[in-house]
Amino acid sequence: MIDLHIHSTASDGELSPEELVDLAIEKKISVIAITDHEVVWGSRKAIEYARGKGVEVVPGIEIGDYGLSLEEFRKLRECWKSRNGVWGYLVFVSFGNVC
Ligand SMILES: [Zn+2]
Repeated sequence: MIDLHIHSTASDGELSPEELVDLAIEKKISVIAITDHEVVWGSRKAIEYARGKGVEVVPGIEIGDYGLSLEEFRKLRECWKSRNGVWGYLVFVSFGNVC
C-alpha cells in the first residue's frame, strides 16, 4: 500500500513527519510521500527518520500558485482542505547547505 498525499506539521498536518513514518509502519504502508504545502523540510525529516525502518519516503511537495505573503499564506491554511493543488514528487531535498 502507498500514500502519496500526506501533510505533516510542516504545513497544515496534525502529525509530525516522524509520527507519520511511525503511523505508516503501523498501518503497513510501504511507501509514503509527505507533500506539505510549499515546503520540503517535512519530507527531509521523514526521510532521515525512516532510514532502516522499512518504509520508503518519497520527497514531495504541494505547490500552490497563490502569490501570497507569508501572513496571507498562513490565513489560507484553514481552507486548504478544499483547494486543489499541484504535487511534485522526487523533488530535490537538500540535507546540507547548497552554494
Ligand atoms: Zn494536500
